[in-house]
Amino acid sequence: MSGCNLCPRSCGADRTLGELGFCGESNKITVSRASLHLWEEPPISGVRGSGTIFFCGCNLKCVFCQNRVISSGGGVRRELSAYELSELMLELEASGAHNINLVTPTHFSDSIARSLEQVRHKLKIPVVYNSSGYESLGALKRLDGLVDIYLPDFKYASADLAEKYSSAPDYPEVALAAISEMFRQVGECALGEDGLMKKGLIVRHLVLPACRHDSMKALDLLADALPVKQIKLSLMSQYTPEFASECEYKNLHRRVTSFEYNSVLEHAVSLGFDGYFQSLSSASAQYTPNFEE
Ligand code: SF4
Repeated sequence: MSGCNLCPRSCGADRTLGELGFCGESNKITVSRASLHLWEEPPISGVRGSGTIFFCGCNLKCVFCQNRVISSGGGVRRELSAYELSELMLELEASGAHNINLVTPTHFSDSIARSLEQVRHKLKIPVVYNSSGYESLGALKRLDGLVDIYLPDFKYASADLAEKYSSAPDYPEVALAAISEMFRQVGECALGEDGLMKKGLIVRHLVLPACRHDSMKALDLLADALPVKQIKLSLMSQYTPEFASECEYKNLHRRVTSFEYNSVLEHAVSLGFDGYFQSLSSASAQYTPNFEE
């Protein structure tokens, strides 16, 4: 992390000296919240909840981020050593978590890999890597064999949207390559008799207001790159304008309409995707965890 190139930003920040790169974090693992979470996809949340660990900072920082409080350095912050992170995973397992769900882990992936190397053999539940998809291949290869389920976003097909909303014009090709590497590592989705996911890839796509054509193109790219029958798609309608009310893009100041969401959903089905689809009632800030607790 001296001259950090852990993610595709390749900022070069010397995080070992406390310098902050685009992600806003030094080399100290910093966590805002760890709890059982019931609002993930059904085979991840199950009945008892997913053992989520929310990391502070973010290497993407979308203008509509619903976790903005922690992605930009606010909220509760607690520094953990790699050993303490391992212990936290064991505590979540003991409290009944169906899995360990590492949320926004990219900019700590090296430390997380060290932590998983210490604890992976003790955990009886799967490890979920829940990321924006903006990952470098080198960092992902370090996680090979340590992660059971990848849960990446694939946000945009167009460089223009990726630039405007996430300051990352290379997002489409970078994320697509990352998601292909994730699939190479974990292979076809496998669910247990309990209906919970044991291994595999779920790709999330959030439909944005006035962006349905880009959503359809993103699904086309995914379908070209991956065997659609071996992965799951989570097509999300939960976009909430509260988090983008001050941004300059007026289309982001409203919710997604049922026409927009349903047209993307129909396209997903026509491409052969299977997975998880949301009702528009999930577009509410009440589903965002409280990071001030
Ligand atoms: S992880 Fe952070 S510091 Fe490192 S390259 Fe990415 S944004 Fe920059």
